[in-house]
Amino acid sequence: MPDDRRTALVTGASRGIGAAIADSLQSRNWHVLRPARAELDLASADSVRIYCEQLAQQKVDALVNNAGVNHLASLAEISECHWDEMLRVNLTSTRMLMQAVAPGMASRGWGRIVNISSIFSLVTRSRRAAYSATKAALNALTRAAAVELGPRGILVNALCPGYVETDMTKKNNTPAELAVIAGSIPLGRLALPSEIVSVAAFLCSDEVSYLTGQTIVVDGGFTCQ
Ligand code: NAP
Repeated sequence: MPDDRRTALVTGASRGIGAAIADSLQSRNWHVLRPARAELDLASADSVRIYCEQLAQQKVDALVNNAGVNHLASLAEISECHWDEMLRVNLTSTRMLMQAVAPGMASRGWGRIVNISSIFSLVTRSRRAAYSATKAALNALTRAAAVELGPRGILVNALCPGYVETDMTKKNNTPAELAVIAGSIPLGRLALPSEIVSVAAFLCSDEVSYLTGQTIVVDGGFTCQ
C-alpha cells in the first residue's frame, strides 16, 4: 500500500533539538528521514552530494536543516579547519540540501523548509565570530530562498533558538556561566528542546500559509533587552 504520509528530512536528529523535532513530527504521523552521520556527513561535500543524489528518488515535503556545530574561538584563534567545518555544516550543506529537495517540492506545489539558525545570527558574544557569521549567512540564504521558492508553494523560514538545554550548550558554557545566563533571561531559565520543537513543527505544517523568509526568535525574551 502506498505511504501517503508527508515526509520530512531532519538533519542532526541523533540528539538535542533535531532528535526532538524528528520525534515530534513522527508523533504527528510524518514519515521522517533522520540520517545518521555515517550516512550523511554534513562536513563532507562528497557525502552531501552522494546523499543528495539519492534524494532525487525520495519525496521530501519538509526539510529541517537542524545540524550545527559551534567551535568556540576568538577571532585571533579561529583555525582554518574549524572555520571550514562550520561553514560546511552550518551553511553549505543547508544550501545543497535545499537545492536537492526544492525541485520535487515545486513539482508538487507544496514544501516547507526550516533552517535552524540561532540568536547569535542577530547578536553575539566573544568567541562566536565564526558561528555568528555562518548563522547570519543562513538567515540571508533563508530570505533569498523564500523569495525564489515562494511562487512554487515552498515556504522557507529560519528559527533562531536562544539558550537550549542540549549537549552543545553544556559543552560551550560552564554550570556557573549557565546559572548567570539563566538569570539574565526574562523567563528565568534555558529552553527545553520541546519548546523549540513546537515552533518548528508549526513551520512544517499546513497551519503556516503566509509566513516565509522570516527569522523567528525563540529565546525567552533574551534578545529583547
Ligand atoms: P547538539 O546537541 O550539539 O547536536 C548536534 C547535532 O548535529 C547532532 O545530531 C550531530 O550529530 C549533528 N552534526 C554535527 N555535525 C555533523 C556533521 N558533520 N554531519 C552530520 N551531523 C552532524 O546541537 P543542538 O544544541 O541540538 O543544536 C541543534 C541546532 O540548533 C544547531 O544548528 C545549533 O546551532 C542550533 N542552536 C542551538 C542552540 C542551543 O542552545 N543548543 C541555540 C541556538 C541554536 P552527531 O550525533 O553525529 O554528532
